[in-house]
Amino acid sequence: MSQASVLLSSPDAAAAAGVPPPPSTGRQQPARHLMMAVFCYSHPYMATLPITQDGDPVLRAIAAQVPAGLFGSEELATMLRDMSDTLDSQPDGVALAAPQVGLSYRIFIVRYDRMERDEEVAKAMGPDVGIFINPEIVKSARKREEMQEGCLSVRGVYGYTLRHARATVRAQDERGVWFTRGGGGILAQAFQHEIDHLDGILFIDHAEELRTDTHEHATEPA
Ligand SMILES: [Zn+2]
Repeated sequence: MSQASVLLSSPDAAAAAGVPPPPSTGRQQPARHLMMAVFCYSHPYMATLPITQDGDPVLRAIAAQVPAGLFGSEELATMLRDMSDTLDSQPDGVALAAPQVGLSYRIFIVRYDRMERDEEVAKAMGPDVGIFINPEIVKSARKREEMQEGCLSVRGVYGYTLRHARATVRAQDERGVWFTRGGGGILAQAFQHEIDHLDGILFIDHAEELRTDTHEHATEPA
């Protein structure tokens, strides 16, 4: 059995993190309002979004392609930042798809540093986020491996899935530039798990030996 596994969600941390309250509700001079607005714009606070859970229709929808007009926009930048902040708030998560934060777009992100088994190396990497927009698996190994798997949108449930041992994804970055990235093990597993999310598929649809364990730490959700 492979050691690699993917955990993809957790609502408690998101709820706990919450969204900060508006800057102020008290009386203020107009100039102060303006200053606040400028401050918030140049130093946006973290936006941690709640993670959608199994049963939410957004997890079963076919997510929409990100249109060309959205690349380079503040809207896309905000979505990517919110996804990154949300995944950051889930220390056991290695990847996150946009529908998991209620956005029905073909986007997923991964945390390469959290896939690194060597703790020292992971620490040295710092938060290392990979962005995949309009992703497609263009190549996969015929060989499949049994992987332990979990999902941030099916919190506390784990099981075994059969995943291609290696996969290559073609996707666009935040500027719209196409690239390809290949990987094996947990990265290949995350590619398959996340693209399934964009097609409305959850790992519990095909996993075996499903079990509930709210104290599981042996697998990372995605
Ligand atoms: Zn997932």
